[in-house]
Amino acid sequence: MTGHDRAAGRETGEGTRAVRAGLPEPVKYEPTLPGPVFAAHFHLPGEPTGPYTYGRDENPTWTLLERAIGELEAPGQPTETVVLASGMAAISAVAFSQLRAGDVAVFPDDGYQALPLLHDQLAAYGIEVRTAPTGGNGQLRVLDGAKLLWIETPSNPGLDICDIRELAARAHAAGALVAVDNTLATPLGQRPLTLGADFSVASDTKGMTGHGDLLLGHVTVTDPALAASVRRWRKIAGAIPGPMEAWLAHRSLATLQLRNDRQCATALTLAHALSERPEVSGLRYPGLPGDPSHRVASLQMRRYGSVVSFQLPGRDHAERFLDGLRLVDDATSFGGVRSTAERRGRWGGDAVPEGFIRFSVGAEDPEDLVADVLRALDGSGPR
Ligand code: PLP
Repeated sequence: MTGHDRAAGRETGEGTRAVRAGLPEPVKYEPTLPGPVFAAHFHLPGEPTGPYTYGRDENPTWTLLERAIGELEAPGQPTETVVLASGMAAISAVAFSQLRAGDVAVFPDDGYQALPLLHDQLAAYGIEVRTAPTGGNGQLRVLDGAKLLWIETPSNPGLDICDIRELAARAHAAGALVAVDNTLATPLGQRPLTLGADFSVASDTKGMTGHGDLLLGHVTVTDPALAASVRRWRKIAGAIPGPMEAWLAHRSLATLQLRNDRQCATALTLAHALSERPEVSGLRYPGLPGDPSHRVASLQMRRYGSVVSFQLPGRDHAERFLDGLRLVDDATSFGGVRSTAERRGRWGGDAVPEGFIRFSVGAEDPEDLVADVLRALDGSGPR
């Protein structure tokens, strides 16, 4: 069943789609979601044709997960998904499969902190990398002659937003392909392919799988030729997910809507509570009606994500706040069912003030979480 209610012949809601995504046709005495297939090679007498030949090329557990992700990325539309070992493997697969020496690529200057490493590697292969801010559709200004436009919206960690429809239309008119890093939103928050992008890319380490227990990434496209080039790159780089990770991810997708609904609603509640605190500045959450990005976000997002960012007055204040939290782990990453927060400046690399906090809202009871945050704020003031 692929996003359609077989009995009624009508399109299902997204919660139903999430719990059934990618499941095979029922077979008597078989499990509804078959377990992980651990195989480096498959029985293959005669001509070595697909679907399953060697474990670096394809794996049945990936196939089911790829179907599931495709159904969520663009329901009812034919898509192809390629799962990879991590979000960075997915990003690199698009960049290195599409770009050649002499090409120009446009990236955000405020995106995920490993992007500058990628830029250096692309430059070493003779690719020109231009960067511009996400907010205000800043990347439009440097599009001229580009082969690939890379968008990350909401941007991590600043939570700026750009207009995917507008950027995709202008980039296509200029002859560029468009990739969107959709890690923060997940397909339940926004659907890049239906907004005009050529590639929807994500780190599924985060909200897609949501338990902080695996690394995974994916690329979804509508053009089979683009899918073939990404799949070819996966084979060359060997950036493949383990079957156990792929299976755990598929299992976790069943609760995607439940987790998203809870986490996004609590993130908004927390953002409102933080907006009342005098020591908090630079508060950002795209779902807050007063957020500078809210208008554009509401044009393309159906949920605003689980991440809230804000500043406390300096490093010591921020560290006391993080130490004082009891229900929130001081840890990196985001999108998980257990809330995490960190002082982002500890890594270097992001252009953020010392007191900048990236807060990832989990699935705790909202009143418990907000009480914990307010109590930690009360105890973290100047000494
Ligand atoms: N894209 C974004 C927006 C991220 O935040 C991250 C990781 O934090 C990545 C990509 C990379 O993902 P992974 O750690 O799964 O390689």
